[in-house]
Amino acid sequence: MKAVRLEKGGRPELHEVPTPSDLKSDQLLLKLEMTGICYRDLLTVDGFFPNTKYPITLGHEIAGTVEKVGENVTDFRVGDRVVSLIYEPCGECEDCLAGRENLCRRKKTFGEDIDGSYAEFVRVSQRSLVKVPVGVSPEGAAISACVTGMLLHAYRRASLKEGETVLVTGAGGGVGVHAVQIAKALGCRVIASTTSHWKSTGIRDSGADEVIENSTSLSAEVKKLTSGRGADVVLESVGTPTLSESLRSLAWGGRMVVVGNVNPKPTEMSLGLIILRENAIFGSVSSTRKEVQEALEMTAQHKIHPVIHAVLPLERAGEGHDIMRNRGSLGRVLLKP
Ligand SMILES: [Zn+2]
Ligand SMILES: [Zn+2]
Repeated sequence: MKAVRLEKGGRPELHEVPTPSDLKSDQLLLKLEMTGICYRDLLTVDGFFPNTKYPITLGHEIAGTVEKVGENVTDFRVGDRVVSLIYEPCGECEDCLAGRENLCRRKKTFGEDIDGSYAEFVRVSQRSLVKVPVGVSPEGAAISACVTGMLLHAYRRASLKEGETVLVTGAGGGVGVHAVQIAKALGCRVIASTTSHWKSTGIRDSGADEVIENSTSLSAEVKKLTSGRGADVVLESVGTPTLSESLRSLAWGGRMVVVGNVNPKPTEMSLGLIILRENAIFGSVSSTRKEVQEALEMTAQHKIHPVIHAVLPLERAGEGHDIMRNRGSLGRVLLKP
C-alpha cells in the first residue's frame, strides 16, 4: 500500500509499504476514506515530540471502512463506516474506565507511537472506534475526532452555557472555523479573531457575529464589542502568540480553554489578572469516544458543516503541510488515499 512515512529529521515521503496483515484479536484493518492534516503533524515533522517512534506513518485523523476484523471484535463488521480516536486507549486504567480515555497515560497516539493514517490502510483497536451515522460525509467523519469532537470536549471543560459570549482566536484555521460553528450551534454569541483578512467572509458564514481582523489590541476590541464586559469564554487555538491578549479579553469570572499552540516556547501571563478577576484557564486535550459520537450526530443533523479548504491525494501531503504552515487555508486540509 501507499503510505506517507517520516524518518527522524526527515521530511514526509510517499513510500510503498506492506499492508498490515497481522491483526491482534481486538484489532481491525480500516481502508482509509479520508484523513486530516493537523498542526500536530507539522510539530511531529519538526521533531517536537521526542518519543516519536521513527520511521512512522504520519496522521491521526482517521475515517474509514472496516476491511478486516480480529477474532474478538464484537461491535464492528466488515463494511462499517467508522471514525477512530486519534489514539488507542489502554482500556484498563482508572481514566479509561471512567470514560476519560483522553487522559489515559498508556494511550498510544497514531502517527507518533503507532503507524497513522496518511496511508491506504490503518490498523486500529476496537477501543478507539465509533460508528459513523447515516448522512455524515467522509469530510465530516474525518474531522470528528480531532476537530469537532475535540471542540465539544473543550467547551465542556470551560462549562460553556447558552447565551454566553465566546471569543475564538485563530478563527480561520481548521479548528477555529469549526469552533465558531459549534459555539453558535450551542446558542452563544461568537466573536472571532483572525490575522487573515481574506478569511473574514468564510468566518462570518460559519456563524461569527463579529470578526476582528489583525488587531493590535484584541482585548480592547473585544471590550468595545461587549460594552466593556469582556468574553465569558475564550477558545484559544493559537496559543503563545495570542494568550496574553486573550486573557485580557476575558470578563470577570471568565474562562479560557487552550486547545492548541503554534509556538512551543514558554509564555508569560499576568497572574494578577487571573486572581483579581477570578479567571480560569483550562487545558483541553483531544476527545473521548462519547464526544466523537456527539460530534458525528451534530454533523448528521447539519448543526456542523465541515469547512474544507482542499482534499489532496496522499502524494501531495507535503504541499498540504506547506498550506498549513503558511496559514493559507480556510478550514481543514484533508488527504484522500
Ligand atoms: Zn489532529
Ligand atoms: Zn487507559
